[in-house]
Amino acid sequence: QYDVHIIGGGLAGSEAAWQLAEAGFRVRLSEMRGGGDMTPAHQGDALAEMVCSNSFRSDDGDSNAVGLLHREMRTLGSIIMREADVHKVPAGSALAVDRDLFSGGVTNALQSHPNITIVRERIDMLPTEGLTIVATGPLTAASLADSIGSATGKDALAFFDAIAPIVYRDSIDMDIAWMASRWDKVGPIGDGKDYINCPMDKDQYHAFVQGLVDGDKTEFKEWETNTPYFEGCMPIEVMAERGPETLRFGPMKGVGLDNPRTGRWPYAVVQLRQDNALGTLWNMVGFQTKLKHAAQVELFRTIPGLEKAEFARLGGLHRNSFIRSPELLDAQLRLKSAPHIRFAGQITGCEGYVESAAIGLIAARFAAAELGGRDLLPPPPETALGALLGHITGGADAASYQPMNVNFGLFPPLAEDVRKKDRKLGYTARAGAALADWVKVAEGVTA
Ligand code: FAD
Repeated sequence: QYDVHIIGGGLAGSEAAWQLAEAGFRVRLSEMRGGGDMTPAHQGDALAEMVCSNSFRSDDGDSNAVGLLHREMRTLGSIIMREADVHKVPAGSALAVDRDLFSGGVTNALQSHPNITIVRERIDMLPTEGLTIVATGPLTAASLADSIGSATGKDALAFFDAIAPIVYRDSIDMDIAWMASRWDKVGPIGDGKDYINCPMDKDQYHAFVQGLVDGDKTEFKEWETNTPYFEGCMPIEVMAERGPETLRFGPMKGVGLDNPRTGRWPYAVVQLRQDNALGTLWNMVGFQTKLKHAAQVELFRTIPGLEKAEFARLGGLHRNSFIRSPELLDAQLRLKSAPHIRFAGQITGCEGYVESAAIGLIAARFAAAELGGRDLLPPPPETALGALLGHITGGADAASYQPMNVNFGLFPPLAEDVRKKDRKLGYTARAGAALADWVKVAEGVTA
């Protein structure tokens, strides 16, 4: 017996299960991995697996919208934030984690919760009754995607995300590369030397860009053609194709990185960020790619410092499905045509680990209120949670709806007389007050 059926044990489904269980409701959490199924991007069976970067992005809750979302989720007892804080690794002002320890921590917490039953099973049809949260993510299994398509009468959209390669630390030549954060910025747990930097001179950079453009790429499948990339996850070779200088003003910019061997900024740089607690694995920042594996190894070993690089994982490309939420869902994430079903996570058209977990959190709070016979108002739009939710459930134009990270552009504007340099703090201070008011209303929703 259970009160809510959650389908999908990723970032959103895990958070939703935790929130409902903590409120005293019984949850059945169906996860297909570990039951004989796998997605094209996941590697194992753990819940809340991070499929690409090991970063939850900025943890600065005063001047960054995703940092603010972290703060709000911590206030609301998020399991994703709790385990991220426990398993963080140095990454400047970002919140990056040891991915295995993190997902292991979430799995243990859910497994040992008396109100949660985890069932390793694939669900092929939307349930016809009973409160349900669908959190099957960007790689929803095809059979369920078909069922969602039939229920909504709309085709799910598709576009690309991409995976960046991971390099073994001891295969990097530190006589050429060096440790530094841009502008020597010191984060809460780092020392201002958080990244490995591989320098390039002008000739090396232009040869490298040409190599990206000429490199052997994975062919598009028929269903993948004419689908737009999400700008934040664009393959590096697509950026290179936009012009020879594009990368030097993007992920390969050398500004603020003094090379100790020359005393100058390099013409261009490849940065690697720590990927696990041990510091043995480092990912190539911004190097998501659809180059073929052999071409990746050949080209990336021309990067100074990576001549002998050994790769723990090479880059790849994956599909990303999401529904047209502004049209299909009500303000509480319920499917208008079948209100016993809520959607949560990336399948709603938010983008990113944090945003997906946040939408899982709020979907669960709505479900808990409904079970308790209460109507919980959405968090105010001045909060990061409310701004993101508003984008999904009505803020965006349904016809041109595209996945979105949380950003201050989703918040109601500040008064015009707030000076530019005070605006970020203006948003976050206002959000703090608004969340505190909402929490007073939201508290007390228990079984
Ligand atoms: P997921 O975390 O994917 O969880 C969905 C779960 O549902 C999975 O465990 C899956 O096995 C399960 N499932 C699917 N269908 C069924 C079914 N029919 N029955 C039962 N279980 C099912 N975000 C970032 O912030 N940073 C990144 O670097 C990043 N890189 C990405 C790279 C790739 C290749 C992809 C695909 C996505 C990437 N994302 C990234 C987005 C990331 O997937 C989401 O941010 C996040 O994982 C989505 O959370 P979710 O809970 O919605 O989905």
